[in-house]
Amino acid sequence: MTKVVILGGGPAGLGAAYELARNQRAEVTLIERNAVVGGNAGSFTLADVRVDYGSHRLHPSCDPQILAEIRGLLGDDLLDRPRHGRIRLQGRWIHFPLKPIDLAFRLPPSFALKVARDILAKPFSTRDKAAEPSFSASLAAGLGPTIAEDFYIPYARKIWGVDPDELDAVQAARRVSANSPGKLVRKVLNAVPGLKPQGAGRFFYPRGGFGRISEAYAAAASDAGADIRLNTSVSEVRLPDFDSSRPRGATACEVVVEHFGSAETIAADYIWSTIPISVLAGAAQPAAPLEVLEAAKRVEFRAMLLVYLVLEQDQFTEFDAHYFPEANVAVTRISEPKNYSDSDIPSGRTVLCAELPCAAGGPEWSASDEELGALVRSALENAGLPVRSRVAEVAVRRLAQAYPIYRKGYDTHFARLDAWAEAIPRLLSFGRQGLFAHDNTHHALYMANAACRCLSADGGFDLARWQDYRRIFATHVVED
Ligand SMILES: Cc1cc2nc3c(=O)[nH]c(=O)nc-3n(C[C@H](O)[C@H](O)[C@H](O)COP(=O)(O)OP(=O)(O)OC[C@H]3O[C@@H](n4cnc5c(N)ncnc54)[C@H](O)[C@@H]3O)c2cc1C
Repeated sequence: MTKVVILGGGPAGLGAAYELARNQRAEVTLIERNAVVGGNAGSFTLADVRVDYGSHRLHPSCDPQILAEIRGLLGDDLLDRPRHGRIRLQGRWIHFPLKPIDLAFRLPPSFALKVARDILAKPFSTRDKAAEPSFSASLAAGLGPTIAEDFYIPYARKIWGVDPDELDAVQAARRVSANSPGKLVRKVLNAVPGLKPQGAGRFFYPRGGFGRISEAYAAAASDAGADIRLNTSVSEVRLPDFDSSRPRGATACEVVVEHFGSAETIAADYIWSTIPISVLAGAAQPAAPLEVLEAAKRVEFRAMLLVYLVLEQDQFTEFDAHYFPEANVAVTRISEPKNYSDSDIPSGRTVLCAELPCAAGGPEWSASDEELGALVRSALENAGLPVRSRVAEVAVRRLAQAYPIYRKGYDTHFARLDAWAEAIPRLLSFGRQGLFAHDNTHHALYMANAACRCLSADGGFDLARWQDYRRIFATHVVED
């Protein structure tokens, strides 16, 4: 049978392992460097509460086939929950997702007037958002200067750590789903009974944490025969022709992995990589050309610190998440994992998860748990949400590759890496990190499904079909 070695055990890698193994399409070995599966979409237990790496929800916009698959794996444990969040804007709280009544009564009046003026002026504007060169200009052309400048631009500065004028307009297209007044109005009307499309204002969430999705895929893939290797990292990726002296008929590729200090070589007909494409290029043999290695150094990922406060109280607020677009609050979002599920256990204790985007290796990255706990408490204080109960524990997790940064010119560097990977037969790079895609979990699972559909029972890979899928991936827009 065809041997596929999958690099990375996040949703993309696990989705592929499951599809290949259950259809007996290939013999699968999956390599994951962490002790658990799930990647950025995983969960862990803190003070008896299951918590995620920042706020994660399964959005109803999920491809129906993927949703059916997840439902099949989780059964009744996939909960259908109402969204109940808030955004802090100029000292006021607005419900998120947006609701017409709430907007009418709670939006700061000066802000509301300026937005209305922008919307009325838009038909007379000569600006074309598709032609705008940057994130900020594209949003200002699409949504008007008020929403762009007072809301998205400060948020973008915190999320990506880059002046929004320096961000490519693609970041607006991929990240901001309501990027025109029409789409914004549609979003607001989604909250009106009768006009509400199915799933609006709701989300799916697994009982026991978002990571249960990945855990269920991993368990089902193992049951179907996939070999999932944890605590194992990829050190070398030997691509076809890495050694011209090898006998004909030998498997085309090899992956050298390391597990607690001991190395092993695994033979493969195909290598499907979901690890960062820049890491893949650095691990390749024969070595990638110099210009590809140079491009690998120039694609940038924004890192994220997740700071968890264990509080000695039943519930901090009734809301699942609070969003902080403004600069005076250091974190971008706080979520309360207990409120995502229908479980209120344990009582007398809850956990808050604060998201603090930063540069990997920068000063915040190496701050102590104590310092980060204090920073989050002071951010909450600034937001009018002071912590009044005892903080029993502070825990910190670090994601080195949280968001791709689409700085202007990124496309040239990514295109160079992508063209290199695409030209290598038997190598496929996909998933959030493999395609440098700002995506949701269901998009990563969709990519995995697509890859499996391209591999035929006789071991051939349909590249033309994969290119068609790549065009679909390019239309994915992330939801928060
Ligand atoms: C703060 C935050 C909030 C989010 N919220 C949502 C949400 O609400 N809903 C939603 O659907 N999505 C959300 N996402 C996106 C979601 O996390 C991703 O879509 C998903 O994790 C992508 O899966 P992936 O497998 O492509 O990549 P990853 O999850 O990044 O998995 C890659 C895997 O590769 C492994 N790896 C890397 N290098 C090596 C190596 N050298 N050797 C072996 N293994 C390696 C990593 O450990 C990791 O497990 C959010 C993301 C973030 C950062």
